[in-house]
Amino acid sequence: MSELNTPSRVIFLTGASRGIGAELARGLLGDGHRLIATARDPASLTWLKEEAVRLEATERLLTCALDVSDLGSVTEAARLAQERFGVVEVIINNAGVAESAPLHKTSDELWSHTMQVNLTGPFWVTRALLPALRGRAYGRVIFIASIAGLTGSAYTSAYCASKHGVVGMTRSLALELASSGVTANAICPGFVDTDMAMSAVEKISTSTGRDAQEARAALEAFSPQRRLIQPSEVLHLTRFLIHDASRGVNGQALTIDGGQVQH
Ligand code: NAP
Repeated sequence: MSELNTPSRVIFLTGASRGIGAELARGLLGDGHRLIATARDPASLTWLKEEAVRLEATERLLTCALDVSDLGSVTEAARLAQERFGVVEVIINNAGVAESAPLHKTSDELWSHTMQVNLTGPFWVTRALLPALRGRAYGRVIFIASIAGLTGSAYTSAYCASKHGVVGMTRSLALELASSGVTANAICPGFVDTDMAMSAVEKISTSTGRDAQEARAALEAFSPQRRLIQPSEVLHLTRFLIHDASRGVNGQALTIDGGQVQH
């Protein structure tokens, strides 16, 4: 294996329908890995199946239904994945939601749903797949967290709390796994150019009366680079973590935000 190449791995990905997850699915399948791409609605992965046909990679792709907030759904997806491809070597917890509200207007429903999808879901998925992976010479658990897991931001207390929880879980898990070749890390992006950030643009427009362009510029201004991160940049960092040579990177919250949060 050269420095640039990595062997084919078995990768389990949540939230593959769109945004960062879709970019990860497209890129990692293209890299030659075996991919279990999951989504709440399997029909939202039709584009990926077509991509697999184009790449002559249908044997390397399993698409299946997974709602990370439903334990039964997690258990069944984990069972199917391992039945088809054996040990899952790379777990990527990507699915997430980001509703905003000032804390005093944060309903129990918003709070619980955010915790369920962003924190309990990744816990359930990881717990379901980890027994086969623990102690092995190679393994990666990757959480797509957020810089909201490292610092506060107004009107997102539920989101920030859930992502801080993910970073805490990552750090503990990394220590539990450290005697093996399995690592756990969190990728912490700033605003990424996906539907999630576009919802924030809409919310800024509605609450301030600014047009969409001005609202987007307000979001971009959070970054010292005055731009949104592209999903392809998150793919790049994920590839770095998957690589064999990244074994020493463990328990880290890796920011990708143009320098917004430095820790
Ligand atoms: P997105 O475009 O809104 O996509 C969210 C993904 O999560 C979709 O695939 C969605 O599936 C899936 N999802 C939502 N609830 C789910 C559930 N209960 N079970 C399974 N899947 C579920 O957001 P994104 O920007 O790609 O976000 C991906 C991850 O990056 C999230 O964890 C997010 O917190 C994190 N992140 C995003 C940003 C940003 O600015 N965009 C910044 C930092 C971190 P459906 O298509 O079925 O809805």
